[in-house]
Amino acid sequence: KKTVLSGITPSGRLTLGNYIGAMKNYVKLQDLYQCNYMVADLHAITVPQEPEDLRERSEANAALYIAAGIDPSKSNVYLQSAVSQHAELGWLLTTLTSMGELERMTQFKDKSEGKESVGAGLFVYPSLMAADILIYNTDLVPVGEDQKQHLELTRDLAGRFNNRFGKCFTIPEPYIPEVGARIMSLDDVSKKMSKSSAVPASYIALLDAPDVIRKKISRATTDSGAEVRYDVATKPEVSNLMSIYSQCSDLSLEDIRVKYEGKMYGGFKKDLAEVIVATLEPLQNRYYEIRSTGEIQDILAQGAENASKLATQTLDEVKQRMGFLPSR
Ligand code: ATP
Ligand code: MG
Repeated sequence: KKTVLSGITPSGRLTLGNYIGAMKNYVKLQDLYQCNYMVADLHAITVPQEPEDLRERSEANAALYIAAGIDPSKSNVYLQSAVSQHAELGWLLTTLTSMGELERMTQFKDKSEGKESVGAGLFVYPSLMAADILIYNTDLVPVGEDQKQHLELTRDLAGRFNNRFGKCFTIPEPYIPEVGARIMSLDDVSKKMSKSSAVPASYIALLDAPDVIRKKISRATTDSGAEVRYDVATKPEVSNLMSIYSQCSDLSLEDIRVKYEGKMYGGFKKDLAEVIVATLEPLQNRYYEIRSTGEIQDILAQGAENASKLATQTLDEVKQRMGFLPSR
């Protein structure tokens, strides 16, 4: 069976961008592959986190994975910090990564821009992400388009290790949706929708109440025209809303264009809000149910135990190949 790994950083409230770009595919892949879905809490601390907030968000995100349809009897759901092999392989791969490679990462440039003090963790984080993936000999990594560059680095590191120390790692492939690979901000289409944004109007959180969703969509920026047509170059805002619409319904972009031909943006946005509400309502109901039972603790413990077993095998081989003496 082929292996899948992915994760989301508990750096904020999960958004519709995370859902469309990544989580929908998590669910789709779990019947076909051996899937590992972590809450990437070690990545979260690359920027300062309040311990209490980190704990709450980590548990909330895990519950959202389950609420979105990840079945813990099929997939491993766990905290990255609970499988210490990730961090250990992360260090080993950091030593194979060059400064120049890390300096080229656009996410690092974006996230460090204008900051007075930038943690070294933010800089080396792509090596840890490579470890997350390679430790399971992952074949497929479901992610949004913004992670493509980090995936490329992961592939390079795997190849570099294999060349230098003998073939050990599988070279992973990204698995990116055709529509909605990069959902943009509702208030500024030049930026991608991000859960760590300080502007709540820029994103739809998966746990936003229906009225909040309606308000955010009605206020989403659009051009001054009236034509509902997919054209990223000339109509980026409407195209972004159409991608969301398509991913939250069973309509294609073309179906949506035909449906709103000769109509104004008002009706389109109203329907879009209802389509999002209908998508998120069952997810939200399941989420609050899961949180109320406390079952998430057991799910995470079991997931970490399973993942740990897989990770140890790879780590042992890597250490042996790199020249570390066996510890037992
Ligand atoms: P942060 O602002 O903290 O970086 P984020 O919203 O970018 O948060 P990540 O944890 O970095 O979320 O990424 C989790 C997954 O969601 C990744 O697979 C990423 O590619 C995907 N993703 C994030 N934002 C979007 C988006 N706007 N559109 C599509 N996919 C996205
Ligand atoms: Mg991100």
